Amino acid sequence: MGFRQRLDILREVLAAEGLDGLVVSRPENRYYLSGYTAEDYDLVESSGILFVGLRRALLATDGRYAEQALEEAQRCEVYVYGPGEGWLEEVLSNLDTKRLGFEALHLTYGRFLKISQALENMGSGGELAPTDNLIENLRAIKGAGEIEAIRASLALTERVMARLRGELSGGLTETDAARLVETLMREEGATRAAFPPIVASGTRSSQPHAGPTDSPIQEATPVVVDIGAKLNRYCSDMARTFYLGTPPDRFKRVYAAVREAQVAATGAVRPGVTGREVDSVTRGVLESRGFGEYFSHSTGHGVGLNVHEQPTLGPKSETVLAPGMVVTVEPGVYLPGEFGVRLENMVLVTEDRVETLNHLEDFYEY
Ligand code: ZN
Ligand code: ZN
Repeated sequence: MGFRQRLDILREVLAAEGLDGLVVSRPENRYYLSGYTAEDYDLVESSGILFVGLRRALLATDGRYAEQALEEAQRCEVYVYGPGEGWLEEVLSNLDTKRLGFEALHLTYGRFLKISQALENMGSGGELAPTDNLIENLRAIKGAGEIEAIRASLALTERVMARLRGELSGGLTETDAARLVETLMREEGATRAAFPPIVASGTRSSQPHAGPTDSPIQEATPVVVDIGAKLNRYCSDMARTFYLGTPPDRFKRVYAAVREAQVAATGAVRPGVTGREVDSVTRGVLESRGFGEYFSHSTGHGVGLNVHEQPTLGPKSETVLAPGMVVTVEPGVYLPGEFGVRLENMVLVTEDRVETLNHLEDFYEY
């Protein structure tokens, strides 16, 4: 889908919401609608704000990015502002909106105040209105090109996972292993890691998002590895749990329960079911195996330009799954003070069912 088509679809959404414009500050959303690839290094250091009106779309940026914006954001008018005051009033009067939405989960309070002040200065009665996930909900359904980009990103991550597996027994520390993941990703051609790699061994594997430590990875312990690459702007996200040595029965039982939950939840994914329904399948399996209370997060999440995005597969998710959605299925069991197991695959909702995008699917059975 081209950028013009995305803008048109957004405009229909805005009209349905009673809005006649949207301030797009979140970089991934800005890119999704305009093609402008500049990143924000920090929440308070923006490389541009996209103002979408019902007829016009203006990408406002400063001189550092002017050339790039003109080259990339071909469906938008590029407005280059200087250090002086008054540019917001100029952009907003070009946009000519009365009820201008903003991304309530992203726009900083400081920028909100500046835009409010500009609207007030203009005296045209325009107002700001909070919005929630308008573009994220459009992004949840991927086009063919996006799905190809995600497949390539995940294939790269799987190559890294397979290479890493062979290195884990050599007395590496968790930090060494996490660093190795980033090196292997670069070697395989990734832009970078999509998020800091998780390598959690021994008792630390019971913390779902443990940061790596300088302790060596011991033999006869489990290791949770959760990694993802960014390639051509699209993320991937997968996790495997390895046991170094011969696993004891308790580990095998937990592993089998997590794997069974993953297979069942994957089988429940199809168009028309809600995120909550898929999540309850995961929970049902883990409860029946006696581990229900040790599953402390949601079953999965969308993956795309962001590593965590819409939709969520969790107990409160009423989102109805639709063809083109890409989500993770990642049950886990975390036994405090003992160990944890998480298995994470990415799946695509197809026209009639589901396709698992991972190929290392049955590689690590215990
Ligand atoms: Zn993950
Ligand atoms: Zn995940």
